[in-house]
Amino acid sequence: MSTHAILRMSTLYAPTLKEDPSDQDIVSAKLLVRAGMIRKEASGLYTFLPLGMRVLHKIQNIVREEMDSHGAQELLMPFVQDADLWRRSGRWGVYGDEMMRLVDRHGNEFCLGPTHEEVITDLVQNELRSYKDLPRNLYHIQLKFRDERRPRFGLLRSREFIMKDGYSFDADEAGLDASYANMRDAYVNITERMGLAYRVVEADTGEIGGSGSEEFMVLADTGEAEIAFCECGYAADTEAASGKPAPTCYEAGALTKLETPGVHTIAELAEFLKCEQSSLAKAFSGKDAEGNLWVLFVPGDHEVNELKAAQLISGFEPLTDEEMKDAGLCKGSMGPVGLPEGVKVAADHSLANIPTWVVGANEDGYHYVGAKLGSDFTVDTWGELCEVKEGDACPCCGKPLQLARGIEVGQIFKLGTKYSEAMDATYMAEDGSEKPFVMGCYGWGVSRSLAAAVEQCHDEDGIVWPASIAPAQVIVIPLNMGDDLVEPAANEVARKLAEAGLEVVIDDRDARAGFKFADADLIGWPVQVVLGKRGLKNGEVEIKRRSVGEKVSVALDSVVDAVKQALAE
Ligand code: ATP
Ligand code: MG
Repeated sequence: MSTHAILRMSTLYAPTLKEDPSDQDIVSAKLLVRAGMIRKEASGLYTFLPLGMRVLHKIQNIVREEMDSHGAQELLMPFVQDADLWRRSGRWGVYGDEMMRLVDRHGNEFCLGPTHEEVITDLVQNELRSYKDLPRNLYHIQLKFRDERRPRFGLLRSREFIMKDGYSFDADEAGLDASYANMRDAYVNITERMGLAYRVVEADTGEIGGSGSEEFMVLADTGEAEIAFCECGYAADTEAASGKPAPTCYEAGALTKLETPGVHTIAELAEFLKCEQSSLAKAFSGKDAEGNLWVLFVPGDHEVNELKAAQLISGFEPLTDEEMKDAGLCKGSMGPVGLPEGVKVAADHSLANIPTWVVGANEDGYHYVGAKLGSDFTVDTWGELCEVKEGDACPCCGKPLQLARGIEVGQIFKLGTKYSEAMDATYMAEDGSEKPFVMGCYGWGVSRSLAAAVEQCHDEDGIVWPASIAPAQVIVIPLNMGDDLVEPAANEVARKLAEAGLEVVIDDRDARAGFKFADADLIGWPVQVVLGKRGLKNGEVEIKRRSVGEKVSVALDSVVDAVKQALAE
């Protein structure tokens, strides 16, 4: 086993700050700047200082090991890309302002690579000629540049960032399915090895296009994405999640029109009737692509998900107050009984089980109870219309769904033949015909996942690095430098730990104990070994696991085992 060089705080370029930087808007960026790991150069542009670089290397190594062990091969494609490639794929004109374009001295156009589908497809097109050459899986770890409209959240949404992007080439869909499953497995391992809590969610394929995609979400309260998940493994973005609401029935006998003065909202109606909001039907008006008017109904304790509405009713858009008035719809009192002529009704599946509904009477200050589905009114279209809520039943197993926020650290796609067809990248099939490659692509945000780890793993004192990606595993803190008992003992402990194969840093600065403790907590080394005069006289040192916080005394001569055990816990 090779021994790692011992890092010394006295010489390390890790300038820590007491105060939060004023130009950062999220905790990971504040802590990474304060811990002396990154510095902001300009909007969305960062320098990685030595400690940040060490973490970056740890993450890159994990990514590399998993990619390699899953049969992918590393290469390195250029950061600057020829515009002609993008013209061939048809994306030069459509990629938009996120692409930073430039012109060289000869007047040729280029861009800073926002992604590498074009370059890789062009590369293999001339070199993978036959079905015998397939499958192949190639990746690189490279800078990307996206001129984000609003660079923010430090490394989470920067303009220049580091991505691992990989691309698979198969002869057919079955091959792609296998390559995709293999990469998914690698991504599960990467996230696990980084020590992060995460969920894999179904994703929209967005601009990149293709037939199937999943996102790897690191759970963190500050995440931009909201996800619904279940202990059975189901997880989806809340925009797309299919929770099953459980509306209840308000028992009211026959259709009765009630005077409900001043009642305009579901909350007011529930209060008025002294019932649960889930016993009421909430109405939402809109129009479709052809201009037909619609009123949608969902259980009163849910909201309408407009994306889902648009999936059910082509071109669905909510009505403005003005349009509602013109259509004769009564805001705050809409219902399916006695709607104006021609207005169609759609309702969430869950309401199909409710025999009588509580609804607006299409007249200000009046509602119906006991509106019987199928006789007092009918529903033209049933479908999924609700925004998912905590506690809705899981669509897979029926248990209650939980909600959490997440940060997308990776996304994998089945691209299919989108790029190979556009760029005429073909191979010769077994029957002699030319066929387009069936492609997959697999992105992992290396720098974003570093920040995501901090978002998930920190407390009020600083970062709490998972041991696998910490800049070093253990810090040795002598409380009195220059003391003829403490200083040599600290050097000796550091040496022993390093010889045991651990990555060690020693805080050999001539500084107060409180200052050293604060820095160690801020930077977030997983284990601290504290050596003081009094303890050493008894042959003891103190060990603190950063994630736990308490110090425990251990015998000086068992310090290596104690540190190893602390790291394993
Ligand atoms: P987002 O939706 O967050 O903008 P994306 O879906 O456009 O990201 P992809 O094209 O899927 O991103 O890129 C793969 C990975 O690269 C993402 O999962 C993310 O980890 C990382 N990434 C993308 N944009 C940025 C950025 N501006 N800063 C840092 N990392 C990024
Ligand atoms: Mg993505």
